[in-house]
Amino acid sequence: MTTGASSTLTGPADLHLHSNHSDGTETPAEVMRQAHRHGIRTAALTDHDRTTGWAEAADAAVGLGMTFIPGMELSAKHEWRSVHVLGYLFDPDDADLVAETARIRGDRVGRAERIVRNIARDYDLSWDDVLAQTAADATVGRPHIADALIERGIVRDRTEAFDGILNPRAGYYEPHYAPDPVTAVRLISRAGGVAIIAHPATSGRDRMMPVPFIERLIGEGLAGFEVEHRENTEAGKRVLRDLAARHDLIVTGSSDYHGAGKPNRPGENITADEMLARVLERGTGSAALRP
Ligand code: AMP
Ligand code: FE
Ligand code: FE
Ligand code: ZN
Repeated sequence: MTTGASSTLTGPADLHLHSNHSDGTETPAEVMRQAHRHGIRTAALTDHDRTTGWAEAADAAVGLGMTFIPGMELSAKHEWRSVHVLGYLFDPDDADLVAETARIRGDRVGRAERIVRNIARDYDLSWDDVLAQTAADATVGRPHIADALIERGIVRDRTEAFDGILNPRAGYYEPHYAPDPVTAVRLISRAGGVAIIAHPATSGRDRMMPVPFIERLIGEGLAGFEVEHRENTEAGKRVLRDLAARHDLIVTGSSDYHGAGKPNRPGENITADEMLARVLERGTGSAALRP
């Protein structure tokens, strides 16, 4: 196994995949096997707010002849919006980033318990049901509550849970602590990482941040946008492409695979070789692993 950037690229690249270290349903190794089966040759593991899956995923990916890019999807918040910032190739031991992700994960636990308490007013659901759906030490999120609701026979799948009981409109929702996007971008950049806003142009409650605010993030070191993602609106993608061209930013395309937890399949969107090269060049906090 060799490490570090090299000039040989191995696309197709999918730079947004989740394992059961957060809210995906498969182990990191299984996620890499699924990506490979779907034709992916460069893959990033991007669990929410943690890096514990890197070693297992890297071993599996390299064993399959793939290039592995270490990543994470950092939770942030702008006003009422949940904003997700993808970080690649940062130093996983960076003290500020380690402290902030620990704070987010810790607060997510109490928040999930509060949501469950709210739901338990009307449905037969307990915190133990949620723990039974959560891999040891995983970053807890609403998807795990969805899985507990499925197990209890209250909903059919995660989609039904998110459309109903877990939707903020249902009245059971509670927020969790998350830093503002400026802090999130700075943390990733200062740890040597490449900060890319995940699915920046979804519709509804988390719709796009105002362009002047995005431009402020660019000033803070934001490297680019995940433009090709199934939840971005077409109008939003056009705005993002324009902004990226104007500021010479990286644009990526990825699946946001969650195993059985979402319909998204590895490789349904991919990142262009030229953009992959820019990510690899810009990330200095940790190394991509190559076969
Ligand atoms: P949380 O961060 O705990 O509020 O939960 C948000 C997570 O739920 C996101 O990371 C998504 O991956 C997942 N999610 C959001 N909507 C859906 C959906 N309709 N079906 C499955 N998973 C979803
Ligand atoms: Fe997720
Ligand atoms: Fe996300
Ligand atoms: Zn994601």
